[in-house]
Amino acid sequence: MAIPRSTQRDETYYAPGFGTYGKNVCADAALEYSALLDRAFSQLKTGGDKGERFVIPQAEIMYDGRNTVIRNLKEISERLRRDPSHVMNYLSREFGCQGVLDGPRGVLKSKVAADQVNGKVKNYTMKFVMCLECKRPDTHIDRVGRVHMLICESCGAQRPVPQLRSKEA
Ligand SMILES: [Zn+2]
Repeated sequence: MAIPRSTQRDETYYAPGFGTYGKNVCADAALEYSALLDRAFSQLKTGGDKGERFVIPQAEIMYDGRNTVIRNLKEISERLRRDPSHVMNYLSREFGCQGVLDGPRGVLKSKVAADQVNGKVKNYTMKFVMCLECKRPDTHIDRVGRVHMLICESCGAQRPVPQLRSKEA
């Protein structure tokens, strides 16, 4: 007589010293995937010897009363080849506060720690700049019908990107 499926427990397959094989296969796959991610990230983070590799720009932060001033917002945007207002909209949305451009600077109407800002700049870069296929930042955003597509100029890959609702962009 067959054992009803519901009484079969997963642990049966992972008997100590024997059945762990099944587990390791999963672990290997997970490791492999995380290694891929790690590599993608390390390629992003480390500035290569020849200066070819792309480095996510760091925000220079200062505080003006209760405001957080990103002194180099324009420079960051230029490095990412995105409109400063697009970057600013993303940040203000993420931090749930108003954000305005002030010449080369971006001002968030709230006090935000520098590493939080930099975390968001990194997220922005991953979301709106990096090609996930070839890990290059040589991309632009194009409107295709009603969808905004991130188009890679290096390998031609395309993916839709979320739209930022805003008055300025
Ligand atoms: Zn690409």
